[in-house]
Amino acid sequence: MKKIALLGSTGSIGTQTLDIVDHHPDLYRVVALSAGSRVDELVEQANKYRPALVSLATKELADRAAPHLPPGTRVAYGEQGLIEVAASTDADIVVTAIMGSRGLPATMAAIDAGKTIALANKETLVTAGHLVMKRAKERGVSILPVDSEHSAIFQCLNGERAQTVKTITLTASGGSFRDRTRDELASVTVEQALNHPNWSMGAKITIDSATMVNKGLEVIEAKWLYDVDYDQIKVLIHPESIIHSYVEFVDNSVVAQLGLPDMRVPIQYALTYPDRQPTPTEPLDLAAIGKLHFREMDYDRYPALRLAFQCGRLGQSAPTVYNAANEIAVSRFLNGEIAFLDIERILQEVVDRHQVCAVDYIDAIDEIDRWARSVAAKV
Ligand code: NDP
Ligand code: MG
Repeated sequence: MKKIALLGSTGSIGTQTLDIVDHHPDLYRVVALSAGSRVDELVEQANKYRPALVSLATKELADRAAPHLPPGTRVAYGEQGLIEVAASTDADIVVTAIMGSRGLPATMAAIDAGKTIALANKETLVTAGHLVMKRAKERGVSILPVDSEHSAIFQCLNGERAQTVKTITLTASGGSFRDRTRDELASVTVEQALNHPNWSMGAKITIDSATMVNKGLEVIEAKWLYDVDYDQIKVLIHPESIIHSYVEFVDNSVVAQLGLPDMRVPIQYALTYPDRQPTPTEPLDLAAIGKLHFREMDYDRYPALRLAFQCGRLGQSAPTVYNAANEIAVSRFLNGEIAFLDIERILQEVVDRHQVCAVDYIDAIDEIDRWARSVAAKV
């Protein structure tokens, strides 16, 4: 029986993780849950799974939940609450399904506590990949990918030697606006942007898919997870999202991982690894699909992806700035404050204003993150 702590239990990845738990009640037990502001959903989850600890974003939300929690469930809140959910229970594995670099302190605390990390929260690796990976190595903690592309790569690399990897190709569906030209992007609405053709996900990552920032974050995530150079990471448009990513080896052999687009497969693989178990998902029928399509990535169409490669190559504080500026730009777009193309403009402006510097401590990451957010909120 594996004990799970789940950060972001009310979100897209969080609820799908609980679906996997429901499917394997003999394999998993939920011992801690955290949510942001969806109090009713969290209370319902707490009464169903009876965890030792739950957490909400603020004290006020925690006070609202408290009278409705089952006996034996303690409630915490805020950043400290997230850290407690990640590190203070007897969980074996922490699923980081919270959105944004706000997940960083809790992820570090989980690593310090020796928990295996099932990582969905890619922003944490983008903002502080070098520090997270170093700490995980020091503590002998595994970071298992939940992101579908990274789970695919992880599966392709199973049993292979790192030196034999030539390139890693991340596939990209192209997002909500893949069939529009840049000129057609000027007036797109929030509602249109939230309508992803293949995946049902949280709002922020859906916008990130439309701008291709998501693939940019994933390129940096892949660099840290698989210790490859940026020259070895490729991106290919594949509208059907059937090939989740692939690895090319030095002998030109290519190993890919395929499946229907359903996050419950990579979520469960992170939980069962190195084992496999049946999932409550549909099997892949390639004959029924008939054709798969591929297009070269167009970096002029998706400049935010080019910028991600640039920031990744610059390293140090540059990815922190890219991520934080994007989080603010996306929330401004979702609030109706700016137009879709302003997201890319803001990203570029904040990165241009930044003087890249070393970030050797979490506090330094925090400082850069706050600076980038404050600039992105104004430009
Ligand atoms: P959602 O927006 O659906 O969920 C985010 C979760 O974080 C919710 O449970 C939310 O709680 C919680 N949260 C928000 N604000 C706070 C806060 N201040 N304090 C504590 N918790 C908070 O996001 P997704 O599930 O889509 O994505 C989560 C992560 O997984 C992201 O990093 C994303 O990039 C990554 N990912 C997602 C994929 C997907 O298919 N969705 C695929 C691959 C990666 P509440 O709703 O209660 O406010
Ligand atoms: Mg992905």
